[in-house]
Order: sequence, then structure tokens, then C-alpha cells
Amino acid sequence: MRNIDGRAIAKTIAAEVTAAAAKLTADGVTPTLAVVVPTDDEATAWYVRSIERTAAKVGVRCRTERLTDPTAESLTALLDTLSADDSVHGVICQTPLPDGLTLADVGSHIAVDKDVDGANPAGLGRLAAGLPTFAPATAAAVLEILRREETPLTGRHAVVIGRSTVVGKPAALLLLAENATVTVCHSRTEDLAAVCARADVLVAAVGRARMVTGDFVKPGAVVVDVGTNPTDDGGLVGDVDAESAADVASALTPVPGGVGPVTTMLLMRHTVQAAGG
Ligand code: NAP
Repeated sequence: MRNIDGRAIAKTIAAEVTAAAAKLTADGVTPTLAVVVPTDDEATAWYVRSIERTAAKVGVRCRTERLTDPTAESLTALLDTLSADDSVHGVICQTPLPDGLTLADVGSHIAVDKDVDGANPAGLGRLAAGLPTFAPATAAAVLEILRREETPLTGRHAVVIGRSTVVGKPAALLLLAENATVTVCHSRTEDLAAVCARADVLVAAVGRARMVTGDFVKPGAVVVDVGTNPTDDGGLVGDVDAESAADVASALTPVPGGVGPVTTMLLMRHTVQAAGG
């Protein structure tokens, strides 16, 4: 079984993004990503620092906007302001959100052409309609990994476990656009392991540590593990039980070091594209 190296894939994309960002900057446009942080959650702070580091590496300016005691009004007003600011090309909003606000409420205040993490429900609609838009970076990362791994998709059976608007649904739409035959599973799916065991490509986006064991995996399948589940000792494990899946799969993305680094890098690529690169 091959371990798919997400960090190496991210490095390859970084070279492309760095070149495009440098060209834009030389032309007088510094690609700029605004990161809105409406929380003092420690895990969020860690992720924001990793976005800032990645941005610095590729020449994207990162403008972190922290809101203390955010309200629905102050958060949506900030997103409106950033959406209208010509010096900002990409806007993302971190979670958890203030009480009473959903991801869709917040996403609706991010202009679609700056919505580099696909948070605006209008973007999901455009994706479903086959129109150009930025897909949520994690879903885009799943497809980017499969493309870089040269995994055949046309006519192949792809199973996605999870139907969230940020990962499962957009990943399914992107796979469909690549002519895969797509099955979407969720918490009410019957015989989940049997459905998954028919997949040539299996995408796990559940949020349950090591739930997907070897008996979910068709021999030779490519498995993409989106899950990031914190462990008691401060580590991270995926949705896939790597040990038992490795006996059956042909390739698997590890956690950490699989989908995560590619996701962060795609936020940069989307920002550069939004800036005209
Ligand atoms: P989510 O909104 O909680 O959605 C989880 C999905 O899994 C739901 O559709 C749910 O079904 C389904 N599910 C839950 N338990 C199940 C079960 N026992 N059997 C089958 N399906 C089940 O989570 P998410 O935001 O999509 O994230 C999924 C995972 O990806 C999480 O671990 C998250 O941390 C990770 N993630 C990683 C990245 C990255 O960059 N690597 C980015 C985003 C998220 P129902 O719809 O029926 O409830």
C-alpha cells in the first residue's frame, strides 16, 4: 500500500502558487487573504497560525481579523466590509461562530468572487450547476490529491461518507464532475461497510476516529481520509483505521500529513486566483 504524501503534494502546489503570487505582486497586486476569527478557541488559533505561516511562504498577504465578543451584527458587518474592500481578494471565516449564527448565515456575507473556502451557499449552488466557483478547500483538496495521484475517476465508483456542506456534498459534486459514479453515505445509511466496500475511491469525512476499518475497503481501492479527530494525548487521528485499511487499499492519505496540508495550500491558490493570477 502506498502512503499518499499530502505534504509533498502541498509543496508542489506551493511552487506554482509562489510563482503566480510573485507575478501579481510585481504587477502591483499583492494577493491578500482576510482570515476572520470570531473566537478565542485554541484549536482555531492553531489553525490560523498554520494559515499565516503557509501564506508567508508563498507570498500571500494574510490579514487576520480577530473579533473579541463578536455578535451576529459585528461579524456579518466585518464580512460585508471585507467583501467590499478592493485590497482584499479572499475572505474566510473561522468557527466556532457566535450563538445564533449558522455557517450559511456567515457565508452569505462573503462575496462569491472572494469566497475562497466555498462558504457562501450560492457557491455550492454554482458547483451543483457546473458553474465556475471556489469549492470548499477541503473538498477541492480531495480532488487535487486524486488528480495528482493520477487516480482514474471516469466510470469508477466513488463513495463519500459524510454529507456536510463543507466536505461531503461538495466532494461528491466534484467527483461527479469528473464522471465518477458517486454514492453519498451518512449516519442513516444501511450496511455502510458493504456500500463502502464497493468503492474504487473511498472518501471518509465523518469525524469519527478510526471508524473506517479494513472491511469497509475494496481490495485495491484508493482511500482519502478527511477526518481529523483529536486524541487524548494532543495528537490527531483520521476516520480511517490505517492499520487494517492498509492491508486492503492500494493507497491511503495519512492523518496528519494527508488532506490537511493540501487544504491550506489550496486556500492560497484560490486567493491568488481571486486576485487575478
Ligand atoms: P460534520 O459536519 O460533522 O459531518 C459529518 C458527516 O458524517 C455527516 O454527514 C454525518 O451524517 C456523517 N456521519 C456521522 N456519523 C456517521 C456514522 N456513524 N456513519 C456514517 N456517517 C456518519 O463534519 P465535517 O465538517 O464534514 O467534517 C468531517 C471530518 O473532516 C471531521 O473529522 C473534520 O474535523 C474533518 N475536516 C478536516 C478538514 C481538513 O482540512 N483536513 C477540513 C474540514 C473538516 P448525518 O448527515 O446523517 O448527520
